[in-house]
Amino acid sequence: MSHASAIDLVACPVCTLVLHAGDGACPRCGIAVRRRRAPDLTRSWALLVAAAALYVPANVLTIVHIAKFPMRRSDTILSGILHLWATHARGLAVIVFVASVVVPLVKLASLAVLLVSVRARSSWRPRARRAPTASSKRRGTGRCSTCSSSPC
Ligand SMILES: [Zn+2]
Repeated sequence: MSHASAIDLVACPVCTLVLHAGDGACPRCGIAVRRRRAPDLTRSWALLVAAAALYVPANVLTIVHIAKFPMRRSDTILSGILHLWATHARGLAVIVFVASVVVPLVKLASLAVLLVSVRARSSWRPRARRAPTASSKRRGTGRCSTCSSSPC
């Protein structure tokens, strides 16, 4: 078995029509069709660093202004959480804290761990992470990163 990319086929991202990669545009819906980019760890690291850098202003800058006569109030995510907590909306404060602070941090940490493990050629689940070799492709036993459960 061989990959569609090996025989220069791609699927239209809109209508899923399969066509040759060099055709340019889908004849059915007219959208530009390109080959998928090869996996690139540098791009993944750049996106992770950008996400981490943007996490700081997302939590430090003001996100809401409330003007309710005679009071005016501006809040960041963290000050809003503290305000919710102080006004006895503690359940809502916990939900906002988890969704706005904890989940993004866990995602950033998870991506960093995955990228470090790839770079260090971790021995964790080596068969699932192995890229198919030319000989395994011929035998039909190769596993790729997108469909690790079965040969493709
Ligand atoms: Zn199409």
